[in-house]
Amino acid sequence: MDTSPWPFHRGETEKIMSIRVRFAPSPTGQVHIGNIRAAIYNWLFARHHGGKFLLRVEDTDRERSTPEAVATVFAALQWLEIDYDEEPVYQSSRQSAHLEAAEKLLSAGLAYKADKGDTGKGEAVLFKMPGRDLSFHDELKGELSKKAEDLQDLVIVRSNGTPVFHLANVVDDIHMGITHVIRGDDHIENTYRHVALYEALQGQVPRFAHLPMIVNAQGKPYSKRDGAAFVGEFRDQGYRADAFFNYLVLLGWAPGDDREVMSRAEIVQAFDLTQVKSSAAQVDLAKCEWMNGEYIRAMPLEEFRAPFTETLTSNGVDLSGFSEEYTRQVMELMQVRTKLYAKIPDDTRFFFCEDFEYNEKGVRKRLQRDGALDHLSALRERLATLDDFTAVSLEECVRAVAEERGVSPGELMHPTRVAVSGLTYGPGLFEILEILGRDRVGARMQRVGERFAGPPADL
Ligand code: GLU
Repeated sequence: MDTSPWPFHRGETEKIMSIRVRFAPSPTGQVHIGNIRAAIYNWLFARHHGGKFLLRVEDTDRERSTPEAVATVFAALQWLEIDYDEEPVYQSSRQSAHLEAAEKLLSAGLAYKADKGDTGKGEAVLFKMPGRDLSFHDELKGELSKKAEDLQDLVIVRSNGTPVFHLANVVDDIHMGITHVIRGDDHIENTYRHVALYEALQGQVPRFAHLPMIVNAQGKPYSKRDGAAFVGEFRDQGYRADAFFNYLVLLGWAPGDDREVMSRAEIVQAFDLTQVKSSAAQVDLAKCEWMNGEYIRAMPLEEFRAPFTETLTSNGVDLSGFSEEYTRQVMELMQVRTKLYAKIPDDTRFFFCEDFEYNEKGVRKRLQRDGALDHLSALRERLATLDDFTAVSLEECVRAVAEERGVSPGELMHPTRVAVSGLTYGPGLFEILEILGRDRVGARMQRVGERFAGPPADL
């Protein structure tokens, strides 16, 4: 184990024997990907260095911190297999400790009471800034400091007697023996004041690493307007937890070589917080999907079976009439090209039913054009007598018919694809035809010949 995880700053000589970090979410309903990435980086830092990863639920906002919101935090951690050490600390249960700390500051003359005039109901407690510039070393941003004149005294207990976030956060970090605070850089302004509070409360000031924001393509904070922004959404869209975890880890950090798909163990081994990029991390959902596809592709076929059949059946597709062998062939064909489980029904439905929809544009562009249905009908007749209904001979047959009719093979392949699948994309056409088999293919080709024979208005 590496005993000096971070370089020692400001001439400090003490050794940090045991790293203790925490994830301190405010449960407000959903878990944003920026927050869960902070959790992941804390977790990786602890696991890499053999330290402790603790959970503190900052549930002091009684209106927003509902039991459901707290459950959502736990569900996100569980789904991503981010395990924590020790019992979780609920900030709401520590109110008396927070108020005691305020009393201590009052009696030491480091805080004072004042009527903030906000409620008129009593006096708030304010923490006195020390009257000097405040600075701290941030592991990712370097030396940060703020002028004394820009630091106002900080309300730590409201006039209604409830402790404010700043007090609770610092008191609990001291109580939990937190050695490193790794959180979003939206907290930097707070940290100057927190440093003074740790000192006033005679607590060990932790080391800080403020993580750059997660942003959209325009460089603005990534929000739900940009796409999936909450952990639950990714889960519901059919992301695999390990793939999503892998993607989030790479959102702002890289192992320093060209590895991207990495196992949990490899990530833990390679993770180095000091190498987190100092610039904002841009969400790229296409890359996230790609990553998920890589994980799906690597699964044993048998593991793919459950998500495959579940998404289809829950979307009203009945698989019961199909042989084991047929379903296995479809799964094999689709697994390598599936990026999201949620897309399986749309991509695969046509294998298991006859009442699939025809893509409108595909019909117009591929079937309702001069000669397309004629070509299709000629091809259908030839396929009916093809000796060997396999991808290889199907391809030979299509090429031969195309040549006889003086058109490119695409002129036959595109309409055939729309006819048998309703889609304009998908796996190799000849593999599709082989799996569907002669009877289904013949019937579907005949059906579109009748259905789309008229002018486009027929749609
Ligand atoms: N509850 C705060 C938040 O979610 C705490 C941040 C922290 O200190 O890690 O922003």
